[in-house]
Amino acid sequence: MQVHILTLFPRIFDGLLRESILGRAVEKDLLTVETHDIRAYSTDKHHRVDDRPFGGGPGMVLKPEPVFAAVEDVCGNQLFRRILLSPRGRRFDQALAHNLAGEERLLLLCGRYEGFDERIRIGLDFEEISIGDFVLTGGEVAAMAILEAVGRLLPGVLGDAESAVQESFENGLLDCPQYTRPVEFRGMEVPEVLRSGDHGKIEEWRRREALEQTRTRRPDLMDEQEGKQERQE
Ligand code: SAM
Repeated sequence: MQVHILTLFPRIFDGLLRESILGRAVEKDLLTVETHDIRAYSTDKHHRVDDRPFGGGPGMVLKPEPVFAAVEDVCGNQLFRRILLSPRGRRFDQALAHNLAGEERLLLLCGRYEGFDERIRIGLDFEEISIGDFVLTGGEVAAMAILEAVGRLLPGVLGDAESAVQESFENGLLDCPQYTRPVEFRGMEVPEVLRSGDHGKIEEWRRREALEQTRTRRPDLMDEQEGKQERQE
């Protein structure tokens, strides 16, 4: 997969792309990530990329000219799934991460200030994605969250030990609690069933715990599951 990121702060991504699982994916060429500085596409003599909003109000708005120039230069005549990071967008979730992981090329556009001139979304055919109902200072952290969630789903990126199959949201449930050594720590013991070696019982326990965690922490997910089951019946 190729991911191109348009941002005013390309260096923000350096650490993420060098470390841990994403760093390894980039090193092994399972994932290519290129950042592009939007400011480099400004033809303004002061390299301005923003201006005051029409109609008044606080803050600055990202201008269309440099963004159009950047998108056209980076995409050329290649097909990209174009994503504009925005709190107004469709909420990012694991299903959308899987959907994006099936793409060959992604373009992530990170905003700053008060956001974008609307003609960028309309004229460049961007879909908007939000990582949650809160407002960040810029789209870079949102782009990183998407990179992390999508990158780890690409074939060959996670080893067996890090497999994504049993994780939260993969089957509509939250993950069950996990334990490692020591067996006893500050008076708290690892549940006996996990030490029993009985794989059937362990699976049963994990499923029950996952249901319980989901029921108590995210009843909305249980409702979704039940709705799905009813529709199937
Ligand atoms: N004025 C905008 C609004 O109220 O919808 C918020 C602009 S925000 C300060 C600056 C940039 O941060 C946005 O253009 C977007 O790229 C990014 N951003 C902020 N919150 C986000 C979120 N929840 N998900 C994705 N991107 C976000």
